[in-house]
This record gives sequence, C-alpha cells and structure tokens, in this order.
Amino acid sequence: MSGLIERYRDRLPFGPGDPVVSLEEGSTPLVAAERLSERVGAEVWLKIEGANPTGSFKDRGMTCAVSAAVREGAEAVICASTGNTAASAAAYAARAGLTGAVIVPDGKIATGKLAQALMHGARVVALAGNFDQALTLVRELTQRHPIALVNSVNAFRLEGQKTAAFEIVEEVGEIDALCIPVGNAGNITAYWKGFTEVGVKPRMLGLQAVGAAPLVDGAPVANPETVASAIRIGNPARWEEAIDAMRASHGSIRAVSDDEILDAYRFLASHEGVFCEPASASGVAGLLKYGADGAERVVCVLTGHGLKDPQTALSQAGSVVPCPADIEAVERAVLG
Ligand SMILES: *Cc1c(COP(=O)(O)O)cnc(C)c1O
Repeated sequence: MSGLIERYRDRLPFGPGDPVVSLEEGSTPLVAAERLSERVGAEVWLKIEGANPTGSFKDRGMTCAVSAAVREGAEAVICASTGNTAASAAAYAARAGLTGAVIVPDGKIATGKLAQALMHGARVVALAGNFDQALTLVRELTQRHPIALVNSVNAFRLEGQKTAAFEIVEEVGEIDALCIPVGNAGNITAYWKGFTEVGVKPRMLGLQAVGAAPLVDGAPVANPETVASAIRIGNPARWEEAIDAMRASHGSIRAVSDDEILDAYRFLASHEGVFCEPASASGVAGLLKYGADGAERVVCVLTGHGLKDPQTALSQAGSVVPCPADIEAVERAVLG
C-alpha cells in the first residue's frame, strides 16, 4: 500500500523529488450495499471514507495540503473546522513536525474529533461563534502571519480529494450518480473535478441538512443547526463551484431533515454493517427520500467514521441489558 500522492502523482501537482507527508490515506473500500440496493431499486455502492487514517475523507486533502506546506517551507498550519479537518490537520502536522492550530465552534464538535486534535498536539481554540465565523477569522489571520491555511479553500485539498473519484471509476467503471453530503462544498467540487479528469459524468446529487441548507435555499444561513455537525455550515466557501458541478452534471442539491439523516444512519449500521457519522448518512438519506432518479449504478460517499461521534450513536441506539452474575439471569438476559 502507498499513500495517494504516490499512487496518483502523475495527476497531482507534485514532482518526483517533492516532500510527501502521508499516513497511507486513500484506497478506501467500496462495498456493495445489498439491502440499500433492494430498497432503492438500483445498484448502490458505499465509499467508506471513514477507513482513512484519521477516520474521514479529510486525510485525502490533508496529505496534499501539508506536503505542499512543507515544500513551501511553512512551519505552522491552521484551519477552521467542524471537527474532521481539525483532527486530520493535527495528525498530518504532527507527522510533518509542524505546529498545528485549529479553530472550532465551541461545544459544537463531536467528542472523537476533539480527542484526536488534542492528542495530536494541536492548539485547539474553541471559538464563541460558528464555523463560518471561524473560517473568516483564520483567513484573516493567515493574511497577517506566515501560517499555511489548510481549509478546502486551499486548492491542494481539492486535488487530494478528487482521487476518490479515480478510485471509484477504477473499481466499478462508470456510475450514473454520486450521493454526497455537502457542507463547505469542497468535496463535491473535488469529486466533480476528479470525474471530469477521467471523462466520467455521473449526476452529482448533493445533500444538505434542512437546518443548514444555504445551497438549497439560495441564501446563506446565519445560524445553521443540525445533528450532522460536520455539515453545520451556513455559507459554503465553495458555493459557486458546487452549483457549477450540480448544473454541469445535471444533478441536484437537496435537503434532508435530521430525522431522515438519523434513519439512514441507523439503517446503515443495522442493515449494512457500516457505522458512519451522522453527516455521512445524509447522502443515503437523500437517496432514500428522493429515489435513484433513473440511475442504475449509484455510489454514496460515507465521509466519516461513526466512532467520531459516540454521543449521537448512544442517543440513537438501544440500551444495554443489566444482569447479575448467575447463569439463569444471563440466560434470561441473552435469550430475552
Ligand atoms: C467535512 C465533512 C463533510 C462536508 O464536506 P465539505 O467538503 O465541507 O462539503 C461531510 N461529512 C463529513 C464527515 C465531513 O467531515
């Protein structure tokens, strides 16, 4: 196995002698989803991005952004984050020997992501504000100080993230539609770039949460709210690009409610054996709500691992069965 810069160097902005900061990200599983296929009446595949080294697709972009930062002589990297970018930036900064700083909305990031960013030694700043305010502030900060900005406004992030589209086409060939959660809209932009580069044009079906759906409403959302914290974003940085990808691919960007997201989240875990985080389930929620729209082969991108957000999982799952330590009680407890 190798990381994605090594695997796709000829299609990425890196030369043979360039420094590479990698945790062997990418090459994630693409698994057939039998139950979901039955329900939807199409051939549905799941791209398991939670299998990346820090548990989300952000690692694809981060290997490129941090490698480029090292090439440029940066000593520190910074990002605003709803959680996964922070975890990924912190890990790749640690690996590169750089200082990492992350700005997250106070109290609004999932526990696993916070633990990761702190464990990797990043300076974690909890902003009394939301993601959109955090991004505005880090952009201003990086104009004043020589710190590399590794949000998806950084073009290297999109370069790395487009490789997931390459992997899908290499594995199953042409697909008709891609269902993908949309927050800051970097990933939908990157997938469309990747598909376009290999001459494939699936419909890009972007999904936002009802309480954080600026691209659906056609206007920024001042106070975005959703259980899917990774896509709790009111003013996407890649707004225009996402709309372009939707139009050029004859796709759509639509909204799903928190209940629909949580239904898909539980369905994937209990019927497909795949545990993703709530935001990641929004693509599947959209597929279940709006149907496959005539598509025969569909890929749903599951952007992050379920263990990122144990609190939401425990609030959605059944409870444990208490039991005294004797055989009759155990029999009753196990057999119901
Ligand atoms: C970052 C993230 C998203 C949203 O991706 P964008 O590029 O911001 O649209 C979706 N799901 C998860 C789990 C994420 O971490």
